Amino acid sequence: MLDNLEITRVAESRIGSVDFENLGFGNLFSDHMFSMRYEGGAWREPRILPYGPISIDPANATLQYAQSVFEGLKAFRGVDGKVRVFRPDMNLARMRTSCERICIPPPDEAMFMGAIEHLVALDQAFIPSKRGQALYIRPIVFSDEGHLEVRPSTRYRFLVMTGPVRAYFDASMAAVALKVEERQTRAAPGGVGFAKTGGNYAASLRPGESARAEGYAQVLWLDGVEHRYVEEVGAMNIFFRIDDTVVTPALQGTILPGVTRDSVLTLLRDRGIEVEERRIALDEIVEASRRGRLREAFGAGTAAIIAPVGRIACRGEELVVANGESGTLTRELYEAITGIQRGEVEDRHGWNRLIDIG
Ligand SMILES: *Cc1c(COP(=O)(O)O)cnc(C)c1O
Repeated sequence: MLDNLEITRVAESRIGSVDFENLGFGNLFSDHMFSMRYEGGAWREPRILPYGPISIDPANATLQYAQSVFEGLKAFRGVDGKVRVFRPDMNLARMRTSCERICIPPPDEAMFMGAIEHLVALDQAFIPSKRGQALYIRPIVFSDEGHLEVRPSTRYRFLVMTGPVRAYFDASMAAVALKVEERQTRAAPGGVGFAKTGGNYAASLRPGESARAEGYAQVLWLDGVEHRYVEEVGAMNIFFRIDDTVVTPALQGTILPGVTRDSVLTLLRDRGIEVEERRIALDEIVEASRRGRLREAFGAGTAAIIAPVGRIACRGEELVVANGESGTLTRELYEAITGIQRGEVEDRHGWNRLIDIG
């Protein structure tokens, strides 16, 4: 596993300039990054280098045609001082699936896990320890070839960067407001909605900005064919609690298969709570809300873990969920997942990968 890894350390660490009390999201990076190149049909040259700019050909196919894939996962410093990465095997599997869809040679387990283990151990000083804070890990893979012809590239780059990120919520867990986007869509059947590829996010920017201008934090996407069925929210999967059943849209190719989504479903089943993965018509949510049966709603994704939804704007009206606050099951799931990640709650499913920090 990465026998020929070469490590070039920074001359001076930036750790002294990190304000752990005021972290943001994705604006601060650890000292080092991991890099590999794909050339001549194989991934080669594993390197750890100082984090910094890279040079690419201006005709780079990623810049022209968006041949790129990314992942997002987190490392946590537990209450016992141990460092855990949450379910990296799921991120590797998803990155491989995303790569296959857009003709990128997928990274293998040795390089993906090796990169994370070496990088997290080397930059362990950047892992925050407060509840909710984490070291965000961002692996990317993209074309590293300059050509203007539309075809798969022959050269690629795999990079992994990390950086400390804030807790998304304070103890009050304020609920977010969503706006249903009834016209523009992010994914269509047969497209790349299930892949974590850059183009999907470019497509989501305009509707996202419109929602924010109207005071909503995120867009609630509907399906790309009939604009009738709920799909996901921003970069999170969506869950609704109707009476005592939790429903979430089934994975049918247009929805990103979230690691947090899978974790939520597992924890709900563990608790004996009824869950359904199926198509959910927006009409059904509106009707459930009218009848007082829509008890909770929340988004699930690595960044926020669990984000309570307090209001949903659609068709000129606004549905208020759980009095605009965080529901009890929503809060319980947040506590359960963050508890496992911090080593406070038994990891019954073997989700945590312990990092040897020497
Ligand atoms: C990454 C992402 C999610 C959440 O996936 P996690 O693995 O839970 O972080 C959901 N939807 C979209 C569009 C995403 O990009």
